[in-house]
Amino acid sequence: MPKLHEIYKIIISKDVFDEACRLADASYPNEMISYLGGVKKKGVILITKIYYQHYVSSPIHADSQVDWFAATNDFLGMIHSHPDGEAIASDADRITFQYYPVHFIMGYPFMIETIKGFDSEGHDMKYSIMDAEWIKKEYKIKDI
Ligand SMILES: [Zn+2]
Repeated sequence: MPKLHEIYKIIISKDVFDEACRLADASYPNEMISYLGGVKKKGVILITKIYYQHYVSSPIHADSQVDWFAATNDFLGMIHSHPDGEAIASDADRITFQYYPVHFIMGYPFMIETIKGFDSEGHDMKYSIMDAEWIKKEYKIKDI
């Protein structure tokens, strides 16, 4: 089966990555995990939202209650940090990846350059980063 990122172009708002870096820094040395939301529009998947909630974590493990997410319809995937090193998917990550189409791991130090995208099978995922304002105008989205 073709992968999502082979069918759709994936665009993520720079604001989402900036916020993820801020949250990852605030959680350091513990792991940070957040959820990503967005829309499919004109053959493009636009990731424009980041949802953060309280979680239990340690430097090597992050856990979160995702039940409330069942109620939302814009859930596309997750982003989490690796405070101890590189953005390499662990076995546990690969198991989690299966459930959602889009994943990002943030290597340390947390910055856009140390973030990597993965698809649900744990393969590298191509994506573009654009300003939220550009996404709003280009795709006529009011609420980002
Ligand atoms: Zn991980």
